[in-house]
Amino acid sequence: AKAKGKNNYQFFSDDMSLIVSRKIALENELRRALTNKEFLLHYQPQFNAHTGEITGMEALVRWQITDGEIISPANFIPLAEETRLILPLGEWVLNTACEQVKIWHDAGHSHLKLAVNLSPLQFLDDDLLDMVGRALDQTGFPASSLELEITENVAVDDIDLALLRMQALKELGVNLAIDDFGTGYCSLSYLKKFPLTNLKIAQSFVRDMAINPHDEALVEAMVLIGHKLNMSVIAEGVETEEQLALLKELGCDEIQGYLFSKPLTTDHFSQLLSKEFAT
Ligand code: C2E
Ligand code: CA
Ligand code: CA
Repeated sequence: AKAKGKNNYQFFSDDMSLIVSRKIALENELRRALTNKEFLLHYQPQFNAHTGEITGMEALVRWQITDGEIISPANFIPLAEETRLILPLGEWVLNTACEQVKIWHDAGHSHLKLAVNLSPLQFLDDDLLDMVGRALDQTGFPASSLELEITENVAVDDIDLALLRMQALKELGVNLAIDDFGTGYCSLSYLKKFPLTNLKIAQSFVRDMAINPHDEALVEAMVLIGHKLNMSVIAEGVETEEQLALLKELGCDEIQGYLFSKPLTTDHFSQLLSKEFAT
């Protein structure tokens, strides 16, 4: 029995070391990719639900590995968080997005808002305010056009710290959105204290709302909560006309999803803008 136990241990340990060494390899890849500038941004347009006009966009990071293949963020953001590489990566994302959208502003589309995702680690990092301030200074992008997306979970460990961070960001003049609303762990009593300007209804509720009356009821309630708390409400993951019609009926302000557009490369987004505003 002892021998068997030892073997089991041995097996387990080999397995673990394999996982660990794979992780280290991937971590080194990430580090190298940052130095080699292998990341790029796609921009998914957001629309006014009632007029159909483009109101802005969400910047979404991609990893372009050398042979042209593109890796989606779901496959590297978690490791980037774990290794804290999300800090330099996130700074690159913010700088690059502000720089690009400034170009669109200067080309005559100055009404466009830019939404950028902040991971919990970034949000709680001591350098956050300086980092955001630097990005705005260096690019000349107006703070009032920037919207930082955070998730409810940033507030789980330390509500007071989260509140202070949000207030400081507001003082910089940037807007704050709560992303994936309804999927996290934030109670409504805290939500009302946070200086949020935008509420993003999570994709999972939107997906099922046309087939499940419970999801429709929840979306309706989320729109009401958002509006009562003076937030603009956006639904993401809108894929069908049916979902769009329901969301408009429920008073949702903005829409983002494949029904209108997938996330676009910089060039394709420029083309969309020139088509949209051609007279
Ligand atoms: P998210 O912030 O919830 O972003 C929305 C995701 O939904 C994007 O996936 C987008 O491509 C996808 N999406 C948009 N419309 C539709 C639709 O109609 N149907 C469906 N099925 N999906 C839709 P993506 O780009 O793969 O990003 C996944 C997640 O990775 C993001 O979820 C976000 O949490 C994270 N992420 C992306 N870029 C960044 C970044 O720069 N920083 C950080 N910290 N996280 C990021
Ligand atoms: Ca987001
Ligand atoms: Ca989201």
